[in-house]
Amino acid sequence: MKIVMLGAPGAGKGTQAKKIAAKYGIPHISTGDIFRANLKAQTELGMKAKEYMDKGLLVPDSLTLELIMDRFKNDDCKNGYVLDGFPRTIPQAEALTEALKNNNDSLDYAIDVDVPDDFIIDRMAGRRACLDCGGTFHVVFNAPKQEGICDLCGGKLVLRNDDKPETVKLRLNVYHEQTQPLIDYYKGQKLLKSVDGTKNVDEVFDSILQILA
Ligand code: ADP
Ligand code: ADP
Ligand code: ZN
Repeated sequence: MKIVMLGAPGAGKGTQAKKIAAKYGIPHISTGDIFRANLKAQTELGMKAKEYMDKGLLVPDSLTLELIMDRFKNDDCKNGYVLDGFPRTIPQAEALTEALKNNNDSLDYAIDVDVPDDFIIDRMAGRRACLDCGGTFHVVFNAPKQEGICDLCGGKLVLRNDDKPETVKLRLNVYHEQTQPLIDYYKGQKLLKSVDGTKNVDEVFDSILQILA
């Protein structure tokens, strides 16, 4: 099964993608997580990506595509994957369609986690991320057992640099300009499914399971 998660930053794509990945035994591939891992390891890619990420801008398509196409070569992608945060622009979506077509393959679903902008600021301000394992929590809606500590790996939880309110507003603009057009793109391909992302985590997951069933 090959799934693309769509939605604004903070809509809950990552939270749901992890649950889908666990349930179906397919990898959760987050370009944001890969960029952050590179940043942490201070690779050249990480340093380049940081310039854009910290400003709330998208990393250029060429760099992003190189990274994701390489990731697809990994053995674990044989039975599919759930993509979170990729594609984020029309050229990225077209490149993905093309790459799949070259293998006589295609996506199964593009799931839009629909959340209005006024919810997003709260979700982002309360998001706490583990930079060791990519785990995400929320101080109110999904609190870790012990404050500031990742339930999954014991790593330290942080407020991401780009989750500060002033950057979040910018990222929302970038989303509306560059990523929201993907909703129509996938509607045109008859792959689009929408879920109400304002409900709680389990309710959103239930709606997704109904789509995938
Ligand atoms: P969120 O989970 O809040 O949507 P991500 O972790 O997916 O954020 O992405 C964080 C940042 O990484 C983005 O703001 C952008 O700078 C960069 N990024 C991640 N994925 C992509 C992509 N597909 N294309 C361009 N930039 C990306
Ligand atoms: P995205 O990957 O779309 O950027 P995340 O999955 O990281 O979004 O979720 C953003 C924040 O909102 C996190 O702190 C997460 O714990 C929280 N969150 C996710 N889904 C929900 C939900 N349905 N209701 C309330 N909070 C949520
Ligand atoms: Zn962790």
